Amino acid sequence: KPSRMKTYLIAANWKQNGTSKTLYNLTKNIISLAKKRKIRHKIVLFPPAVYLSNIFPLIRKTKNIFLGAQNISPYSEGAFTGEISAKMIKEVNCNHVIIGHSERRHIFGETDKVISSKVSVSAGMKLNTILCIGETNSERRKKRTKSVISRQLKTSLLPSCNVLRKNLQKLIIAYEPVWAIGTGKNATTAQILDVHTYVRKTLSNIFGKNSSKIKILYGGSVNNKNAKSILELDDVDGALVGGASLKAKKFIEICSSI
Ligand code: PEP
Repeated sequence: KPSRMKTYLIAANWKQNGTSKTLYNLTKNIISLAKKRKIRHKIVLFPPAVYLSNIFPLIRKTKNIFLGAQNISPYSEGAFTGEISAKMIKEVNCNHVIIGHSERRHIFGETDKVISSKVSVSAGMKLNTILCIGETNSERRKKRTKSVISRQLKTSLLPSCNVLRKNLQKLIIAYEPVWAIGTGKNATTAQILDVHTYVRKTLSNIFGKNSSKIKILYGGSVNNKNAKSILELDDVDGALVGGASLKAKKFIEICSSI
């Protein structure tokens, strides 16, 4: 059983949803409910990048609510139309970034190589990096889950492992089975436990004993009903929440489930 004092990280990935007004209100509601429910876990909000500066003044005085970017450029600076650098998102008060989300991999064709460059840029800029990994439905059916997880972890982390090693508490892995994202079909607790244990073992092979500092989140149809049973599993240090993070009440119920 998790210790009472364990601090979880609960991330709200708003994706390409909302407007300036609705996300401003959503943030306000999350802050006031978090206060009311005395949430002591770490909450990170990931609005679309154009709204970061709008939302920052709201969270500035909270002690456990932070801002993150949903994506960053694999390059530090220059002629890369449409991209946003790690330095830019830091300038608008983001200290977290999501890298390699399954929608980036599968809809926008991001490869392990691109993801590895993003991890390297993010680690170099001392951002808290949330690296997303996870198998597709067909990979799971072919019993390739662990080989996929292992490949994603190694190709993304090994090239920058020396930089990452200096700040392992800034590295966060999110296990998000692709078939569980936005489908309402979360992985079972047995499946989550099995993969998280494997992720922990792989991280220990890469980084050694300090790898216990790395948080491992679960993502994929987490909601206010299933959150508790998922968060109380060994080696689950938090959740990455999509759909259910767009409703303040549901999101705060997730945060207060543990
Ligand atoms: C996500 O976007 O990372 C995610 C887990 O989405 P959902 O909670 O909607 O499945």
